[in-house]
Amino acid sequence: MQPFRLFLPESFEEAIQLMKEHGAKPISGGTAVTTLIKEKIFQPTTMVNLRKLEKDHSYIVEENGQIKIGALTTLRDIETSEIVKRNHPVVSNCLSKIASIRIRNVATIGGNLAHADPDLDLPPVLAGLDAHIDIIGEDGERSMDIKEFIQGYYETDLKEGELIKSIKIPIMPDRKGIYLKHRSLSEADWPCVGVAAFVDEAPGSVPVVFINSVADTPIMKVEGIQEMFSEGITTEAIDKVGELAADQCEPIGDARGSVWYKRKMAGAFTIRALREITGVGESLI
Ligand SMILES: Cc1cc2nc3c(=O)[nH]c(=O)nc-3n(C[C@H](O)[C@H](O)[C@H](O)COP(=O)(O)OP(=O)(O)OC[C@H]3O[C@@H](n4cnc5c(N)ncnc54)[C@H](O)[C@@H]3O)c2cc1C
Repeated sequence: MQPFRLFLPESFEEAIQLMKEHGAKPISGGTAVTTLIKEKIFQPTTMVNLRKLEKDHSYIVEENGQIKIGALTTLRDIETSEIVKRNHPVVSNCLSKIASIRIRNVATIGGNLAHADPDLDLPPVLAGLDAHIDIIGEDGERSMDIKEFIQGYYETDLKEGELIKSIKIPIMPDRKGIYLKHRSLSEADWPCVGVAAFVDEAPGSVPVVFINSVADTPIMKVEGIQEMFSEGITTEAIDKVGELAADQCEPIGDARGSVWYKRKMAGAFTIRALREITGVGESLI
């Protein structure tokens, strides 16, 4: 690893200034960045470490009908938070399936979402909960839906010099969700396919499904569900949504499964998730 200069700012404003002055990228938990550095995919000369911002920006609070999470909060703190467990157990459950406790103790939610790896577990769950990302930059602050924030293969809407400051998840007692992660290699592995499905308890509400690891973003939305359920939610209609999911994916074949296998799994896990959240048909999990 080639040596690089590391700055340790005390505030977002100072970090943004340093990033601009040195053309440097930020580092939070470092679990993704250091892997890229070790593999020589990324060879920085300068980096801006956000760790000292932890004292002010590692928090989970309930505020104005939302859960607000500071960007420097670790995945493990979110997973074990009583606020998160009480309001959105699907988030705690999803986080408990990411990597290992050692990684989750260090990785931050800001670093996780900025990384935008198509295999990430959390984004499809946050998409189903209409989460918003708060961004801070030289020109002030802005907020956007996670579905627009993650734009493609390791690509987000973050402009040069901008940082994730916090994440907001609306509290929706009527929204039920599930995240099913299929690991084909080992218990602590990345997903082969992960399916997040959500439905509101209101009569006539139509489920939404987001899938990771099968497209260039971790938030592939299954389109056409409304039409499939136009005459009600039945096991036959759920099977058809499974077929839609399999058809719409564009996975890359790798050690976790061939293109054919990943499509099959996307379909099968969509059916399992939909049966579970709608209560239609026997449970398959
Ligand atoms: C062995 C291993 C196994 C893993 N398994 C899984 C898995 O099963 N499922 C899964 O979902 N993930 C998995 N991960 C990925 C892990 O979730 C991410 O590495 C982690 O969440 C990134 O957070 P971090 O704080 O360490 O980010 P960093 O490595 O510090 O940064 C990641 C990226 O975000 C940028 N960044 C950091 N903070 C900010 C900020 N506040 N604003 C803007 N940009 C920022 C950095 O410049 C960099 O581009 C695994 C990682 C490892 C190392």
